Amino acid sequence: MYSGLVCPVGKHPLSLDGGHLVCENCGASFPINDGIPELLIEDARLPEGINSIADLKCMKEKNSKK
Ligand SMILES: [Zn+2]
Repeated sequence: MYSGLVCPVGKHPLSLDGGHLVCENCGASFPINDGIPELLIEDARLPEGINSIADLKCMKEKNSKK
């Protein structure tokens, strides 16, 4: 149902986990509200050990590509 969706930061695939979509690369967890995924990094739940969006693996990869 949610296949083809990717992390808004790193464009890595998302996997469904307990009502959230979790980036397989950086671990950011995106909520699904009424069946609609909210793919905004500002609203994402960060994985354990990550305190800010800038510390996400996807964000670091994105910043290092330029
Ligand atoms: Zn990601």
